[in-house]
Amino acid sequence: MNDSQTVLTPEQAQQLVLARIDVLGIERVSLLDALNRLLARDEEATYDNPPHDNSAMDGYAVRFDDIASASAQQPVSLEVIEEIPAGTIGKKQVGPGQASRIMTGAPIPAGIDTVIKVEDTKRDGKSSVDIMAPEERGRHIRRRGEDMRTGEVLMSAGTRLMAGEVGVLASLQRTFVPVYRRPTIAILSTGDELVEIDEPLEPGKIVNSNTASLAAMVTAHGGVPVMLPTAPDIEDEIRRTIETALGCDFILSSGGVSVGDFDFVKKVLEDMEAEQVLWRVAMKPGKPLFFCLLRGRPFFGLPGNPVSSLMSFLQFVRPAVRKASGYAEGEWLLPTARARMHHLLNNPGDRREYQRARLDWDGDQLMADTAYRAQGSHILTSMLGANGVVVMEPGQRAEAGDEVGVQIIGDVFRPS
Ligand code: AMP
Ligand code: MG
Repeated sequence: MNDSQTVLTPEQAQQLVLARIDVLGIERVSLLDALNRLLARDEEATYDNPPHDNSAMDGYAVRFDDIASASAQQPVSLEVIEEIPAGTIGKKQVGPGQASRIMTGAPIPAGIDTVIKVEDTKRDGKSSVDIMAPEERGRHIRRRGEDMRTGEVLMSAGTRLMAGEVGVLASLQRTFVPVYRRPTIAILSTGDELVEIDEPLEPGKIVNSNTASLAAMVTAHGGVPVMLPTAPDIEDEIRRTIETALGCDFILSSGGVSVGDFDFVKKVLEDMEAEQVLWRVAMKPGKPLFFCLLRGRPFFGLPGNPVSSLMSFLQFVRPAVRKASGYAEGEWLLPTARARMHHLLNNPGDRREYQRARLDWDGDQLMADTAYRAQGSHILTSMLGANGVVVMEPGQRAEAGDEVGVQIIGDVFRPS
């Protein structure tokens, strides 16, 4: 059978994967552990904040009608009847011709409609103050409920909790917060040629970088990695290791899903009666992707080439992680943008190419460079500094200065 007839487009493959992913469920975590997590319920204000009208300034609480005519030439003198620090409720009602000294945040006493900031006053004696400037009625008073009103929905389920959200949850006195669970993701590298990063590099061997880079990807995109021991290209050993991963929410393998004589991962999964969902995607790098459900668990058989496994992760595993973690549908796939090429770029092949790119700003124009390093699927150093991916359709050609579609995979800072 002709390969091109059986190979799926990346969009088809994404749809097939995402259709098999469920939201994991909810756990309660302590407030600071909720940072970067997704809130799992709506949060309402449980009280008015500020809880009472209070002063926005250090100054004097006055009745506007008393001070309407005040000026530097003709100050108005008021009797100071009490001092109200923040955290204290004033005890005295301010009458005509009177004022209370008040600090920022202190509740506004009865009878008051205006605060004069201390810079506009002169206090010689203890018992009186001169108001040296007029002020609008109602100035420098923060109103009750301006920040939040009892019963108002402040954050809805699915909100990503950043520092501001943590602060509001603290204001609501939430010590524990219900958030969506993050998937635990087992990572299994396969290959007779692999040595671990702390083992001697014998002739003919290569260092297993995929377990580490995939674990980093998992963490970076909100999952919890579980790094399994590497399996040699022996069916029984691959199977034994996969069985130890069945307690995890997802399983990732790298290597062994191509068409080589020792590519046993697919065979082992078939023997374990996994339900195959897809194999092979029309993309470069990353064609040999295998996705199945193993006893209900999503299992991603990623290609072994170091760049391919990371690109496949970004296109297929990341969206699945985000769906499972409670993100809304529009937030599953990578964000995209348009950029102009720094240089000529060609895709003469018959598969869509995902080229590692460095994106930067030339004034207001987003620019893409894919030539800072070679692009082979074995060139892991092409990921260094890559904050984007240029997406090139088969036959597409972009001259220097032409617009291309890009995916954003890292921070794109605008030089100041
Ligand atoms: P495979 O898909 O098993 O045929 O592997 C494809 C290529 O990726 C081969 O050159 C492997 O040596 C390389 N490779 C496979 N697994 C890893 C890994 N864990 N770390 C680094 N390179 C790998
Ligand atoms: Mg292999």
